[in-house]
Amino acid sequence: MQVPFLDLKAQYRAIKEEILPEINDVLDNSAYILGKKVQSFEEAFAKAHNSKYCYGVGTGTAGNHIVLWALGIGQGDEVIVPANTFIATAWGATLCGATPVFVDCHPESYNIDPQKIVAAITPKTKAIVAVNLYGQPADFDEIINQLENANFEQKEKGEFINKNTGQIIYLVEDCAQSHLSEYKGKRVGSLTKASSWSFYPGKNLGAYGEGGAVMTDDDELAKKFKMIRDHGAEQKYVHQIYGHNYRMEGIQGAVLGVKLRHLEKWTEGRRRVAKKYYELLKDVEEIILPKEMEYSKHVYHLFVVQVKSNGESKRNQKRDDLQKFLTENGISTGLHYPIPLHLQPCFEHLGYKKGDFPISEQLAEQGLSLPMYAELTDDQIEFVADKIKEFFSRN
Ligand SMILES: *Cc1c(COP(=O)(O)O)cnc(C)c1O
Repeated sequence: MQVPFLDLKAQYRAIKEEILPEINDVLDNSAYILGKKVQSFEEAFAKAHNSKYCYGVGTGTAGNHIVLWALGIGQGDEVIVPANTFIATAWGATLCGATPVFVDCHPESYNIDPQKIVAAITPKTKAIVAVNLYGQPADFDEIINQLENANFEQKEKGEFINKNTGQIIYLVEDCAQSHLSEYKGKRVGSLTKASSWSFYPGKNLGAYGEGGAVMTDDDELAKKFKMIRDHGAEQKYVHQIYGHNYRMEGIQGAVLGVKLRHLEKWTEGRRRVAKKYYELLKDVEEIILPKEMEYSKHVYHLFVVQVKSNGESKRNQKRDDLQKFLTENGISTGLHYPIPLHLQPCFEHLGYKKGDFPISEQLAEQGLSLPMYAELTDDQIEFVADKIKEFFSRN
């Protein structure tokens, strides 16, 4: 039996009849960039996340950049990001000329550890990017608690001011992996000052090419988002502020508009797969299963288990051997992420070293992402679980 890590073809087959006329429509109208389809997708996507404004952009990375750029972050500023995330979270800061400052993740949620944020704040800190990683929200209330204990007061949603010094810090979300996910019953994306989204094909909601979005409830910020994505112009050829070409393509808007209508069902599909993994793997002592935190509705972008280390080598041989065994048996898995951000060669100049963020480092060594998508069959999930058990019965 073959179990791919992700099967985009299965999903396409199911919605082909709906998608093709929508793409045709874009072509018939030459609506290649932005346009009506993008706009109606933006409206529907904002509504799905209880947000006032949403703008489609070219990539999730562009979204990370726009959010911080529009908040005025620049050279000399520091932006706190988790060490355990995809690198694009940090590009949001570097593209603004700011410096990313890393914080370790929480041992159970794998998201930024609220208890460790305050120690990373300096007078230069301008923003904190909380990533809702693997499909699970960060613990926003706890982040706010910690900031309040450190003398920061929340003035407006996601905007904190230091009662003594007047320093302002924004809290924003990277929602690239958390479409429709919920924190204490509320959809992510509108919990903080602003959020960014990715529609890279492999994400829970994926375009047929590159795609992303930014979201906010703040009227002024929304205006800036819209201008920055289109050359800093509100009106053609009048450039009020610096900008970029970060526009979403018409075809992607059309595809996403169709796919959004299926997203709740696909999300339930992913949750069904996760539930089955939990049932089948709960007694396997050699692995640590992910934890759905009490405060969260996890949307399982990824199902990351940890293979307990045998403590022999620098890399976790056991995890690597299990991955190899699964590959040999037709099961594809992934590593998210094999090198935490503070140990990436491109950030060497920031002076971090191994040992700085033990939880992120442990995840990099022990983490293994199992196949995860809505169309996985019970037979496939059982096959994956059986093969994992077989491996440990022999090793
Ligand atoms: C995918 C991803 C991004 C970047 O999205 P692109 O659309 O690929 O540019 C940013 N942050 C996180 C956490 C991601 O997983």
